[in-house]
Amino acid sequence: MDALEARYRPLVDALAHPVAGASARVVAVSKTQPAEAVRALAALGQRAFGENYVQEALAKQRELADLDLEWHLIGPLQSNKCREAARHFNWVQSVDRAKLLPLLDKERPADRGPLNVLLQVNIDGEASKSGCAADEVMALADEAAALPRLALRGLMAIPEPHPDEAHRRAAFARMRALFERVRERHASVDTLSMGMSDDWPLAVAEGATLVRVGSALFGARPAKA
Ligand SMILES: *Cc1c(COP(=O)(O)O)cnc(C)c1O
Repeated sequence: MDALEARYRPLVDALAHPVAGASARVVAVSKTQPAEAVRALAALGQRAFGENYVQEALAKQRELADLDLEWHLIGPLQSNKCREAARHFNWVQSVDRAKLLPLLDKERPADRGPLNVLLQVNIDGEASKSGCAADEVMALADEAAALPRLALRGLMAIPEPHPDEAHRRAAFARMRALFERVRERHASVDTLSMGMSDDWPLAVAEGATLVRVGSALFGARPAKA
């Protein structure tokens, strides 16, 4: 087993058989990683990959066009990127304002299935973070669900990386409660995306159905210039 496999197998096992909570799946976050790293993980059976930057993702997708991968956009989305996002991703996890919804709907090609959409919530109310406020979620969900080229699948959050575990757990629990309310109202909702390399076990224990893991799989990312 090489180093990548030694990191990957235990993660997939743990997600399939969590100690608490239901099983979850992993989106491998491949931002800043070369296409060859994605290819190596795909060879181990991983299909879903997350990218933060549209242009970087498109370049990788071209190199990996021979593979059948599922691409998730997880980085902040600007309206001028909606066209490419709707065309080149299977999921957009970072929808956080109403303006983006009709743009994504309009740009989703008719020959592809509906674009899977998660609403990103700024669950700790941090001033610097993307995400809508918790009390805006229901209205956004109703708008997303009404658009024919979008499939409203659920919610995403990046809670504040607080040193106190109880604080982090409480943020995940608030997300779970919000998720249950949206799910009661919209039958298409089945995905709660929360948890990253440092905190995915806690997120899964609090009900995450999808975790986004980067450095714990690929190793530390090179520092940004
Ligand atoms: C980078 C990133 C991740 C993965 O972070 P790691 O700590 O490397 O696992 C997950 N979600 C989002 C939105 C990210 O930007």
